[in-house]
Amino acid sequence: MELFQLSRANSVSEAIAAGAASTTAQQGAEVRLLAGGTTLLDLMKLNVERPARVIDISRLPLDTVEDTHDGGVKIGATVRNAALAVHPLIRERYAVLSQALLAGASAQLRNMATTGGNLLQRTRCVYFRDTAMPCNKRDPGSGCAALNGFNRTLAVLGVSDACIASNPSDMNVALTALDATIHVEGSTGRRSIAIDDFYLLPGETPQRETVLEPGDLITHVTLPPAPPGARSLYVKLRDRASYEFALASAAVVVKVVDGRIAHARVALGGVGTKPWHSPEAEAVLMGGTPDMATFQRAADAALAGAKPRSQNAFKVELARRGLVHALTQVTQTV
Ligand code: SF4
Repeated sequence: MELFQLSRANSVSEAIAAGAASTTAQQGAEVRLLAGGTTLLDLMKLNVERPARVIDISRLPLDTVEDTHDGGVKIGATVRNAALAVHPLIRERYAVLSQALLAGASAQLRNMATTGGNLLQRTRCVYFRDTAMPCNKRDPGSGCAALNGFNRTLAVLGVSDACIASNPSDMNVALTALDATIHVEGSTGRRSIAIDDFYLLPGETPQRETVLEPGDLITHVTLPPAPPGARSLYVKLRDRASYEFALASAAVVVKVVDGRIAHARVALGGVGTKPWHSPEAEAVLMGGTPDMATFQRAADAALAGAKPRSQNAFKVELARRGLVHALTQVTQTV
């Protein structure tokens, strides 16, 4: 780990001003904001992240979960994952989010990790974390060791010839299925960004993962009201039962009225370069009957664009089955 200067921001504007001193918000940023530290400190110890300044934002007043006037919820950026998972508003209205949070990491990590930090969680690609190896995300233009290397855990959707790294978060998959909006404050003012627009595909610039600019601070996330009568579920498939990243996961929100699917939101995890929203699966589900044939067609549609590499073709079928299972379970007693 390299030497760095640590200071604390006493206000949102102080944090924004400090972050704006960076020339980039992406890989190689000179200034990093520290909340829970569960990703940043790991990467600093590995010399993957080498900021000259680290600004502690963990004491900013962004740690509440509140009802919004329209029946939705506002989640502060520094709300800890453990607290969010058991918050009554989340458990009652957004079960899929509680389930996804509790499926992630370990109890100790969930006690530290924050909502804003989890949104910016970095990939677990082994080459990204090894500075001796080529990696376009860490060192643009150096190549991608995973294309013909260890790619068993990496993405099959949204990939490019420059990078196939998977987004490792469980929370982000649930937030995608819940149509979350991410609220950002920066040197040019406030912005609200739909989660579908927040993450970027790797393309030729995998070092750029989100639309954030230097100085941008995620202040909170809002969720719209849950559709009355809808049910939600998170299914995570992994190599071991706990403290493991998803090989494939599915977050679904479904409402059935008079034997027909009247609302459907589908997101996949572990298989995409970003939390993978599937309007294709939703189009199949909407208006259909909640049965195995419909669910299998929806899963086929969700994975139709998959581009597996040498070791991760199994993920296509795993994700298919995970989604069919989630849809079957969530509609079972309706
Ligand atoms: Fe780096 Fe992406 Fe290739 Fe992994 S998949 S080595 S993160 S460029």
